[in-house]
Amino acid sequence: MFFCLSLFSCFDPVTEEPFTILTTTGMLGDAVKNIVKEDAHVVSLMGPGIDPHTYQTTQKDVQQLMHAHMVFYNGLDLEGKMSNLLKEMAKERKVYAVSDALDKTALLYEGTIGADPHFWFDVKLWKQVVGFISQKLQEARPESAAYYQNNTLAYMEILEQLHKSVATQIQSIPAKQRVLITAHDAFGYFGKAYNIEVVGLQGISTVAECGLKDINRIVQLIRERNIKAIFFETSVSDKSMRAVLEGCANYGHKVAVGGYLYSDALGAPDTLEGTYCGMIKANATTIVNALK
Ligand SMILES: [Zn+2]
Repeated sequence: MFFCLSLFSCFDPVTEEPFTILTTTGMLGDAVKNIVKEDAHVVSLMGPGIDPHTYQTTQKDVQQLMHAHMVFYNGLDLEGKMSNLLKEMAKERKVYAVSDALDKTALLYEGTIGADPHFWFDVKLWKQVVGFISQKLQEARPESAAYYQNNTLAYMEILEQLHKSVATQIQSIPAKQRVLITAHDAFGYFGKAYNIEVVGLQGISTVAECGLKDINRIVQLIRERNIKAIFFETSVSDKSMRAVLEGCANYGHKVAVGGYLYSDALGAPDTLEGTYCGMIKANATTIVNALK
């Protein structure tokens, strides 16, 4: 016999199966968990270190997507090759792109490529996403709606505090040194929200390889602006950033590796960085320590 260690039954009353919510990224999984707590089963397809832009959908993923009661995905083509499948499923099932929560004017655009999908790095925008997810969950599970609403309000408070503390932290870096150089353009929203200039070696997707021209562009920028540190990303190969370090060394210019930033995936489960708030805090601390 199955039962749940919570106030509510996490089993679907019709199918007698655990109510299962599937998300693509860990960030979305964490948002859902903060709303439903133990009231539902939450599965995220893309674990630590996984790059969603280049992620290949497996047969097992398709099965999990088909069996889930609800699915939340990022949208704006973050999920690369999986995007079309998710869009098709959304026509008939409870499959939601959380980018629908955001007003078009809040989005950043890169040339002709389209909207930048990395909006989780602006905590204010993420609050809107959490509100959107909560609303969809409450509609799907009216018996748990009040519980979800309470959890959402409490979590929103935590996010508001996080937003304020990140803003204060980043402002502590002298304006001239406030330049964030990373492997790909994942931090555009972060830069806009927290007033730090961001430069990515690759564009908003990691699908296209970066060339020698991009590497030289960054090397020149580091030399001209006398930038202290550059950053690796946990879900992107270090190769091109190491080429930047080498390029700087060829000119006798010293630049440090500021550390690894969590860009498109959370850290390991059961660590601070395995949660959305922990990821944002860890990044802010790494950035401040390296650039201040
Ligand atoms: Zn990305």
